Amino acid sequence: MPAPRPRIAVSSCLLGNPVRYDGTDRFNESICNHLTRRFEIVALCPEVEAGLGTPRPPVRLTGSPRHPLALGVEDANLDVTAALQRFSDGWLVQAKSLSGLILKSRSPSCGLRDTPVFDLHGAIQSHGAGLFTRIVIRCYPQLPVDDEIGIANAKQRNVFIDRVEQYALQRHCT
Ligand code: SF4
Repeated sequence: MPAPRPRIAVSSCLLGNPVRYDGTDRFNESICNHLTRRFEIVALCPEVEAGLGTPRPPVRLTGSPRHPLALGVEDANLDVTAALQRFSDGWLVQAKSLSGLILKSRSPSCGLRDTPVFDLHGAIQSHGAGLFTRIVIRCYPQLPVDDEIGIANAKQRNVFIDRVEQYALQRHCT
């Protein structure tokens, strides 16, 4: 029997699902063209699955660069940090069955390396990962992870594919 295709999770908006705060998507052709036949794809939207709904008020990372909060852009009294952390902690169990993760860049939840963290006056003070990503990569530091900017680059995409296949093989053997 052929081995099952490795399973990877992808930010749902990149797959064309209208789950962004304003009800739009960010369909990504590179991911859909190059990866959907090779891997089993699981759609994931931390903000929707945390119960925040669509449409919803936009949030951004604010405060300490190491431990930022996810606060409303228009209303800083809106704090969805705990909801996102609860969902992310619960999702870690599902991550055990995954061999990779592709995330939406710059998102306060899904960003990998370029999500802005604002100070209390609204100025960008640093960049880093979104809240969901911070929790997942802390728990699974070896899991192959990239974002749609990385996947758009053919060389980086091939590196990601190799890493996913290796990771899946190791999971299968342990
Ligand atoms: S970036 Fe992440 S949280 Fe935001 S809409 Fe896309 S999947 Fe959902």
